[in-house]
Amino acid sequence: VNNVPNIIKGAVGVEFAAEIKNYYPGISVTLVHSRSEVLSNEPLPTEVKEKAKSLLEEEGVDLALGNRASVFELPDGKQEVRLADGTILIADAVLDATTKGTATTGFLPTKCLNEEKEIKITSNLQFQSGTPNAESHFAVGDVVEWSGIKRAGGAMVMGQLAASNIYASILNSEDTTNNFTLAELPSYDNVIGLAVGKQCLTYDKTNGMKFGEQLMKDYFQDDLGWAANLRYLRLTDVKNEDVKKPATVQLTEVASEAVPAAA
Ligand SMILES: Cc1cc2nc3c(=O)[nH]c(=O)nc-3n(C[C@H](O)[C@H](O)[C@H](O)COP(=O)(O)OP(=O)(O)OC[C@H]3O[C@@H](n4cnc5c(N)ncnc54)[C@H](O)[C@@H]3O)c2cc1C
Repeated sequence: VNNVPNIIKGAVGVEFAAEIKNYYPGISVTLVHSRSEVLSNEPLPTEVKEKAKSLLEEEGVDLALGNRASVFELPDGKQEVRLADGTILIADAVLDATTKGTATTGFLPTKCLNEEKEIKITSNLQFQSGTPNAESHFAVGDVVEWSGIKRAGGAMVMGQLAASNIYASILNSEDTTNNFTLAELPSYDNVIGLAVGKQCLTYDKTNGMKFGEQLMKDYFQDDLGWAANLRYLRLTDVKNEDVKKPATVQLTEVASEAVPAAA
């Protein structure tokens, strides 16, 4: 493959473009986006979007910003990418990352969903009132309407909290002398940890923006955080204490703090 234009929208396209370039440096990778900045739809400061753009360039990804693209298959199997400014790119492969994921909540009453088909929840992670037996229904993860950028860490915290609250609800219902208070989910700030090839870019309101190759090693190790997450989820026999800890970043910053059980 000589040339892989990548039509992007959001962090997924940025990460994929940089990953391909990082692992196959001989391939020409072009990132095409209709807006003049990358991560244009993310609720992040301009300096973060600017830095993501310059990291992509440092990693050797070509950028074609401010250009809508149309893609046509050529008789030889290659792809012709026509940009709005008239530029034509010939690519061996095009990865379309423009589609936004949609929640698979069609089986639920529309009353409990917002316009994005996300489930409307209370801070206890229960369905909001209006749905039959709302207090007995809990929802977590990307599928719910909540503040902040949707992230695995946030989803895991919600899972722990929902488990605690379901347990507390069962105890309360089994014995009326029990009165366990349900735990509340705090509002989430906009946080991002973006892998851009050999480098990583992180942002949160408290610590501001950080980036670089050492941060990539500390944050994602050499496998985009796969092994660390398996350990966090207890899906491996390797324990955290068996692994040399990074100097500056703890796993909890990548994933989440354990939530104290309510009951
Ligand atoms: C390319 C990419 C990179 C990302 N990088 C990061 C990152 O670095 N850090 C980070 O924190 N987050 C990252 N995210 C976001 C993160 O993956 C999500 O926030 C997280 O996976 C949400 O977890 P979840 O359990 O809510 O949903 P999911 O992980 O999407 O799990 C939902 C599961 O439910 C299944 N399902 C759907 N409908 C039904 C049904 N009707 N019946 C049965 N099963 C069903 C799906 O197949 C899926 O397995 C990334 C996302 C993508 C796509």
